[in-house]
Amino acid sequence: MEKKIFRDYDAPDISVAVKEHYRKMRKNQTLDYVQHMHKKYLAFDKPMGLWDAMRHLNNLIDVSDPDINLPNIQHLIQSAEAIRADGRPDWMQLTGLIHDLGKVMFLKGCDEDGTSQDEQWGMVGDVFIVGCKLPDSCVYPEFNSLNKDMHNEKYNTPTGIYQKGCGIDNVDLAWGHDEYLYQVLNNHKTNTLPAEAMVMIRYHSFYPWHSGGAYQEIVNEKDAGYLQIIKDFNTYDLYTKSQKIYNLEDVLDYYRPIAEKYLGSGPIYW
Ligand code: FE
Ligand code: FE
Repeated sequence: MEKKIFRDYDAPDISVAVKEHYRKMRKNQTLDYVQHMHKKYLAFDKPMGLWDAMRHLNNLIDVSDPDINLPNIQHLIQSAEAIRADGRPDWMQLTGLIHDLGKVMFLKGCDEDGTSQDEQWGMVGDVFIVGCKLPDSCVYPEFNSLNKDMHNEKYNTPTGIYQKGCGIDNVDLAWGHDEYLYQVLNNHKTNTLPAEAMVMIRYHSFYPWHSGGAYQEIVNEKDAGYLQIIKDFNTYDLYTKSQKIYNLEDVLDYYRPIAEKYLGSGPIYW
């Protein structure tokens, strides 16, 4: 029987691994850690073609996801195919196909950073802003006090180190696959994806904001527009999860021309 409820973190059958993932993520994702990850992972020194990167996600199961335990490539194809079936624009289909591709970070990753196949707290899961107070709309808010920044008076206020109304483009989010892919594509010379696609890629895991309504002191008018874009995309990111298995090679002929149209055919620097 198809599972009907998504993101039920209190379900009796929820894996202890999901909760443990969130405990480590909340504890370790501090402002210092995030700044360190930016230096470490935003070097763009490893060329790799889009399809090779996609194939690497055959080897990654997202431990933070309570709804699906298939290799991540399946979730990407399921999302893209649903967007395609609804007759949505080609760029959005491609965005569905690649939105989680930042998880290839594990190729450069390590356990200590939370960016490996075994330790994923620096790579996947709902993200939050670092440098200001953690909101109660985070999953498992009881873990918020484990983060040492929450005991620093410079950081533990609603705006923390930021200006009121500065907008989410101007804050640091917890480090993960969203920000990584956004930065990789931002650095990619032949990227012509529309701005909406880049918003979907960068903020799709920012649940405390897009679904929890937190950070009212930080957001601005531009973010209200972003919210519409994210809500639209989220339908496909979440409600297309199923046990249906695809083979990337079977859908490649359809998606390759779209990928070349928006990303070119050369390698991407990771
Ligand atoms: Fe994601
Ligand atoms: Fe996703």
